[in-house]
Amino acid sequence: MINIVLFGKPGAGKGTQAQFLKEKYNLTHISTGDVFRYNLSNNTELGQLAKTYMESGELVPDSLTIKMLEDEVDNHPNTSGFLFDGFPRTIAQAEALDKFLVKKGWEVTATIGLEANDDVLVQRILERGKTSGRVDDQDEAKIRTRYAEYNQKTSPLINYYSNQNKYYPIDGIGTIACITSRLSEVIDQL
Ligand code: AMP
Repeated sequence: MINIVLFGKPGAGKGTQAQFLKEKYNLTHISTGDVFRYNLSNNTELGQLAKTYMESGELVPDSLTIKMLEDEVDNHPNTSGFLFDGFPRTIAQAEALDKFLVKKGWEVTATIGLEANDDVLVQRILERGKTSGRVDDQDEAKIRTRYAEYNQKTSPLINYYSNQNKYYPIDGIGTIACITSRLSEVIDQL
């Protein structure tokens, strides 16, 4: 069982890399952003609750997000490991994940951070917004809100995982293949 947290700011390439890593390492990929978007487009109760936060670029409240993540994990009891993409994003989420996995005899094996400069990332998101159809990708003010949320609520996780000797930063700038191989180097050593 290996459980990897793919960490990074919006636009860092977590979703792109997850597509390769889940195949290569046979991991169950859980993207909380994708699950929320699915619920939003199907107008479920969860989607309705998450809508205003997502559309403004704010984080969805922890209680909703943690419950949703736990349900997703519970749906895959026989997996050989998870690839968490976009979760945890707050200390409360990280603590809840630790507790939840421990109850199952599991743990977070490693958190790998895709590091990149903000200006490069904002440009990448605006570019993605031309085709992704995501309202939160199309407006620079919303993108700035997402970065503010990251800086305030998510960046403390670097210390949280570093203190557990589980944080592995890698350079997130380069070709997709190049970054996949940097990630693989870390995972192969776990
Ligand atoms: P993402 O696709 O990961 O950029 O997520 C898109 C949006 O979904 C975020 O801006 C949040 O509104 C919401 N979201 C995704 N993951 C989380 C999370 N772990 N905690 C709170 N909100 C989240």
